[in-house]
Parts: sequence; C-alpha cells; structure tokens
Amino acid sequence: MSATPVTQLTPSSQPQQPSSPLLGASVTELTTWVQQQGQPAYRGKQLHDWIYHKGVRSLTDISVFSKQWRAAVADVPIGRSTIHYRSVASDGTIKYLLQLSDGEIVETVGIPTDKRLTVCVSTQVGCPMACDFCATGKGGYKRNLERHEIVDQVLTVQEDFQQRVSHVVFMGMGEPLLNTENVLAALRSLNQDVGIGQRSLTLSTVGIRDRISQLAEHHLQVTLAVSLHAPNQALREQLIPSARSYHIEDLLAECREYVAITGRRISFEYILLAGVNDLPEHALELSKHLRGFQNHVNLIPYNPISEVDYKRPSGDRIQAFLTVLQQQHIAVSVRYSRGLEADAACGQLRAKK
Ligand code: SAH
Repeated sequence: MSATPVTQLTPSSQPQQPSSPLLGASVTELTTWVQQQGQPAYRGKQLHDWIYHKGVRSLTDISVFSKQWRAAVADVPIGRSTIHYRSVASDGTIKYLLQLSDGEIVETVGIPTDKRLTVCVSTQVGCPMACDFCATGKGGYKRNLERHEIVDQVLTVQEDFQQRVSHVVFMGMGEPLLNTENVLAALRSLNQDVGIGQRSLTLSTVGIRDRISQLAEHHLQVTLAVSLHAPNQALREQLIPSARSYHIEDLLAECREYVAITGRRISFEYILLAGVNDLPEHALELSKHLRGFQNHVNLIPYNPISEVDYKRPSGDRIQAFLTVLQQQHIAVSVRYSRGLEADAACGQLRAKK
C-alpha cells in the first residue's frame, strides 16, 4: 500500500519535548530527537521502523540500540495504550476499550470486510455535542485525545487482527473538528508513517462553524463526511443541540466551499429515525439542498440506544426514502452498521466496562 506524501500534512517543525510520547512523530521529528540525544541520524529511521512497523512498546526493547542508550531513555514513553476489554460480534467486528496513560478509557472498533480492515477511531474521551440519538453524547465529555492516542488505536487493531489496516474512519467517540490540531497530526501520521492512503481516511463531523472552511485550506485528499441527519433547520436543531448556533444553510454553504476548494465530494451522513426524519417529503427537501455540488448521501438506519425511544424505520420506509433521492439524481447508499451486538455500531460507543 503506498502512502501519498502530501506537503499539506507536513509535521510541525518544532520537535516534540523529550518526554512527549514518540508515537505520531514523523521520521524527521524522530531523527531530530535522536540527534538531540547524541545519536547518529540513521537511528531516527530505525526508531521509526520499530515504532510503526515492529510495534515496539518500550525503547528498552529496541535491540539494535546500545544497552547504555536504552537505559538512558527508558522513561521516554512511546505512547501505546493497553487493551482493557475486547468484545467480538458474530460478524467479526471487534470493539476495544483501550486504557490510556491517565487511566481514561476510549473506544475503538475493528471492522473486517472481505479484503479490507477498517478501524473506527475516537478523537475525544466522550463527546460534548450531546446529539439526541447518540450514546457517546449521553456519557458526557472528558478531554481531547492526543495525536499518539489516535494513531495508537489503529496500530492496536492492526496488531490484534494481524492484518494491515486499509481504511480508517474518524467516527468513534468525539467530534474531530473540536480537536483539529491532534486530528490533523494523526491524519499525517496515519498517511505517512503507518502508510494508509489519504483517500482511505475519512473524517466525520457534525459541523463546527468555520472549521470545514479551515480544513479546506489544507487541501487534503482525505474524505470528509458531514453528519447532516435532517433536511431543515427545525428538525436538525431538535436532534443536534449545536445546530442551534449553526444554521443548516451556513453549514451547507461551507460544504459547497469545501468541494469547490478541494475538488473532493462530501459524504453526507443521514441517520434514519422512524417517523422523525424518514418521510418521502424529507427526502425531497434534502435533495433540494444537495443539488448542484459533488456529494453522496449515506443513509444510516438508526441503531437503538437505551436512553431514547427512537425507532429504526422498516425496510419499506428506508427503500421509499432511498427511491426519492435516486429519482432526484442524488448519489445515495444505505449503510447498515456492523457490530450491533458488541455495542460497537455507530452511535453505540460508550465506555461502560
Ligand atoms: N462527531 C462526529 C463523529 C462521530 S459519529 C459526527 O457526528 O460525525 C459517527 C456517525 O454515527 C455519525 O454520522 C453519527 O451521527 C452516527 N450515529 C450516532 N448515533 C447513531 C445511532 N444511534 N445509530 C446510527 N448512527 C448513529
């Protein structure tokens, strides 16, 4: 798998503090760091290989380094988590609860399909957005994840499945655009250090004012997914509290601008809630908003969570919604989430063990 080197994802020129975890650092940053330790430059490349390809968890285990130097840097963390809990669904999806260095727990999902292995990563511990249909928001918000804590999730799933991760979706716990700096750093590292193509990386956002425009300036080739979920402002506000201060027209204007700047189409996520947003007239209203720019709609039949009594629409209702969009020439697909019984499906993530 070839990584596309992209200048817009260049690492910051500031080397990390020696005590910062090394995971997430580029080969350039690691080379600078080893040189600061009085080591020759080629040790940086070796360190990179051990961290990203050999999965080393402690510098003391890097056998190509001298014993003396290993002892000197023994306390420098690489930044790997430990698996606290693991739950396997019958479709092969595995949900992990990972324990971070401060004891917080974060969720990650490994989703195997044919030749692919997709990882759904979290970007925050909990989530402050409190969307009405989402379990993560019900559990409150703790903190942003650091870049190493995001990259670690992918390496952990890769090691556990003993298979290369081909795709990463930023659709786990948290709102990525409230943690843009670490998310951008993690995207760079997943692309250039782990070797996952940018187009196989998807960032999903509920939409934060000005942040989609700011993201566009980076000219990334990653896929942007926007959680729209409603065809008008009134309904969207009902489902997504943050929509009250960010009108759907403003969000869609930023999306159009994003497509114009990046040349990449946007994926709109639309969760289908029976009797709430799944009527044919909702589909028609949605299609009017989406005309005239490159996009694709992913319909996500609601996955039940215990706190609210929304229902998943029947297959017929889902089909009827789909048909209206197709008649309006909107590119659309239905995405049934996997991992339901492991509580690992979209919206069901909540650290509960
Ligand atoms: N905060 C980001 C990323 C996390 S959510 C965002 O909102 O996009 C990832 C996807 O799961 C979103 O589209 C979200 O709306 C959807 N989702 C949340 N709860 C769900 C549920 N109960 N059933 C199905 N999809 C859900």
